[in-house]
Amino acid sequence: MPYLRGSCLCGAVYYCVYGEPSFVTHCHCQTCRKASGALFVTWFTVRACEVEWHGEPLMHYHSSCSAERGFCPHCGTTLTYRHEADPDSIDITLASLDQPELVMPEHHTWWQEHVPWVEPEVWAGLPHYTRAKAGN
Ligand SMILES: [Zn+2]
Ligand SMILES: [Zn+2]
Repeated sequence: MPYLRGSCLCGAVYYCVYGEPSFVTHCHCQTCRKASGALFVTWFTVRACEVEWHGEPLMHYHSSCSAERGFCPHCGTTLTYRHEADPDSIDITLASLDQPELVMPEHHTWWQEHVPWVEPEVWAGLPHYTRAKAGN
């Protein structure tokens, strides 16, 4: 039985992780922000041989000369990051897991590039709507 399962939004790409996730981080670098369209991206790292990919093959974008980011060719969901200096490991977006609550983030990285209002005290002070804001 797989340890963790995940997929893209449309389900064309799905995967099973058999290894233990490590280095679970909220990455605040600008590249992650642009690649995902989100304020930061939460990643976990596993050994590449411990992930089984199913469905459509990922498409890849070289976000630098030595790194590539994998995404679903149909819906565009950001799924992976690989660096050629470390070909045996792969980073996967924690939010693409079916049960992201099973893996706890351990730290923030690239904090020097974080959006200034991505701060717990600022977030906590905003109103929380259970669903969409009424009237929208
Ligand atoms: Zn998809
Ligand atoms: Zn990043």
